[in-house]
Amino acid sequence: MSTEKKLQFDELMQLATTSAAVTRDCDCAIDACREWTRIPAGFPEQQMQTLGTLVEDPYIEATYEEYHPAGTNYWSAEAPIAWRHYPYNRCSVLQCEVCGRCCLKYVEAGGYYVEPRMRALDPRLLVNLPADA
Ligand SMILES: [Zn+2]
Repeated sequence: MSTEKKLQFDELMQLATTSAAVTRDCDCAIDACREWTRIPAGFPEQQMQTLGTLVEDPYIEATYEEYHPAGTNYWSAEAPIAWRHYPYNRCSVLQCEVCGRCCLKYVEAGGYYVEPRMRALDPRLLVNLPADA
């Protein structure tokens, strides 16, 4: 069972706002991951701190429904970050200890592969909706 702190929406928004205000360059390059991105081999995991999780209940499988009211898809840089929808409802929130940027991370598990993916936490894209919206 995970001991990660369950984040609330206002905390998520606060982290996203803080992250978006960072302008310095950093090895993490979180700001370049505007859409879901396979975590690159050289990603500095050692300078990432896990702040919490968006998983609501580890004993209940969260929905696979995605939220794209404006015609975006999973891979779109402008896709909403609807925290109760897939894949955000499986994510951890990481913060770079060097620059302070935050990203979302989860592991995509296909039939024959697992792929860790990351996406910058952007306050403009955050949407507070229940999973059945
Ligand atoms: Zn950084």
